[in-house]
Amino acid sequence: MKPRLTKSVARDRLAKLRTLIERHRRLMHVEDTSEISEAALDSLKHELAEIEMWYPDLITPDSPSQRVAGTPLPQFKKVTHRVRMFSLADVFSLEELKEWDGRWRKLAPHATTDYLIDLKLDGLAVTLTYDHGRLIQAATRGDGFVGEDVTHSVRTIESVPLSLSTDRVPSPIRQAINTSVVEVRGEVVMLKKDFDALNARQVAAGKPAFANPRNVSAGSIRQLDPAIAAARKLTFYAWELVTDLGQTSLAEAYEWIRAMGIPTNPKATVGATINEVASVHARIEQERERLPFWIDGMVVKLNDVVLGRRLGFVGKTPRAAVAWKYSAEQVTTVVRDIVLQVGRTGALTPVAHLDPVLVAGTTVARATLHNADEIRRLDVRIGDTVIIQKAGDIIPEIVQVLTELRPASARVWVMAKRCPVCREPIERKESEAIHYCVNSKCPAKQREQLEHFVSKSAFDIVGLGPSTIDVLVEEELIHDAGDFFTLKPEQLIGLPLFAEKKSVNLIAAIHARRRIPLDRFISGLGIRHVGTETARSLAHYFHTVEAFTKADLKTLSHVPDIGEVVANSIATYLSSAVGKNILKKLLAAVTVIPSAAPATGPFNGKSFVVTGTLLSMTREEAEEAIRQAGGKAIGSVSKKTAAVIVGAEPGSKATKAADLGVPTWDETRFKKELGR
Ligand SMILES: [Zn+2]
Repeated sequence: MKPRLTKSVARDRLAKLRTLIERHRRLMHVEDTSEISEAALDSLKHELAEIEMWYPDLITPDSPSQRVAGTPLPQFKKVTHRVRMFSLADVFSLEELKEWDGRWRKLAPHATTDYLIDLKLDGLAVTLTYDHGRLIQAATRGDGFVGEDVTHSVRTIESVPLSLSTDRVPSPIRQAINTSVVEVRGEVVMLKKDFDALNARQVAAGKPAFANPRNVSAGSIRQLDPAIAAARKLTFYAWELVTDLGQTSLAEAYEWIRAMGIPTNPKATVGATINEVASVHARIEQERERLPFWIDGMVVKLNDVVLGRRLGFVGKTPRAAVAWKYSAEQVTTVVRDIVLQVGRTGALTPVAHLDPVLVAGTTVARATLHNADEIRRLDVRIGDTVIIQKAGDIIPEIVQVLTELRPASARVWVMAKRCPVCREPIERKESEAIHYCVNSKCPAKQREQLEHFVSKSAFDIVGLGPSTIDVLVEEELIHDAGDFFTLKPEQLIGLPLFAEKKSVNLIAAIHARRRIPLDRFISGLGIRHVGTETARSLAHYFHTVEAFTKADLKTLSHVPDIGEVVANSIATYLSSAVGKNILKKLLAAVTVIPSAAPATGPFNGKSFVVTGTLLSMTREEAEEAIRQAGGKAIGSVSKKTAAVIVGAEPGSKATKAADLGVPTWDETRFKKELGR
């Protein structure tokens, strides 16, 4: 890959990165506190490694990249592993998992197997050796070949038996246990409740609380004094029977391990197909916050032991297993520019243009900065390295600036005095943090307004994308939404992007919307603060478009779910010259279908949130079904939400529901409640 930096810039950047990474490493691992997330620190290390790849001669011996992970500490006895302790390759999406699946299938085209699915615990890998059924040694992974002897600490873990039980295992295995060596590997973790209890004791003793449970479990095991590990209460879950006792499947090995008296993770299960693996992954992600331990993903292994052995290894990772990790929701990148974006209501949003970066499974090149106050609060400057965060379906945002990496050339951003598009002065309402372009003729506003008008939630006109709208505006064929309905095919033919067929189709699509339900009509007006739900409330309240357009502030304040700010905004629109003009044009062209009395049903008066992908219906259909049953479909979860309906690959809403104690329903439950 071609270097993106000149050598002198790279040298300067590397020096800053080294200092910063070392500082956060110290905080995290020595002082057990943190100022940035582990994901953000990983992102910085990744950048460092990339620059060093371009300029290998700039690598210094003290660079964080030169640290060999897991080098045994000198004070521990070293243990050479009988069988190398491998690590797993990571995947971050279903697509990558399927690629992994395709790769081994190419090597073994006729093989059939199911998959063992286990949780990827955030702990310390340890291998246990039993001789004649007695625990003789416990060792850490180390570099995979040589680990540290931590027998003294591991002996204090109550879930690790000091001798294996043999009364429930098949007799050939009993024979093996009693006469030879059996090796079992697994993870030492600290359960959430034990971590909380430990921290409570720390605080009570006037000591600082621990921040990272994995560091605590690793730190406790790697103590020379076993009393420390004993006091901290650790737990062990096995994930591999290393010794060949004749097991044909991993699931069988898990059974035997449990019969020997060693726990395996109770959530471990078997999936027949990759799709089944995916649905387990989705379910576990939902349960993640409520699990008794911390996990950072799922381990997927081919259940067929013989096949797994046959497939062998690439480098230090086995082909037959993979770690499906939850992708990082925080990464670092550089702000290249801050640009004001004009919304349909004239709201001006500063947007950061970023070096493109992969976060939570998607490439992100823009992040919202919300408003000028937010920029001041964060102290973001153009040229800064920042931590960006993306969770679920939420718009990416900047959460922190790494001022240590700020270049001398970084520029402070200042709020413009004029709209970037129409150059008219901008205003800020006293009660709001947002600046507005108040020019009703602003082309940017106009365009956004037109795009909103034809969008799915409003008039839903097919074939009117942003570039088509641009052409129509440039040719001065439309000025506002009222002009769509007077367009004629002959005006369009010959324009850029327009062939005859397209012109005819577009006019037909527009005419198909000459009859429009009241709520969509109101939504299409694009009144500030009036979204789909508010439009629906207004339609239910006023029933007819005549009643709505005559409404004054007093009437509007009686509408359920509508507050003062929204009522004001609607009243202002209805009495404005612009609003009156558009309404006049639209009402001359379309028939507005009066709103029926609100539907009633089992969901009466309750609010629901739909997240993720449902199998038997689209999101819109699910929300319509909720409304048909008398309920409200809303966008964000609160304590008042009756239930969150959760499909595959849900966003953060499912987690939020769990946090707030809001019930979550799967699709089956949802349909049952609907009476379907
Ligand atoms: Zn403007």
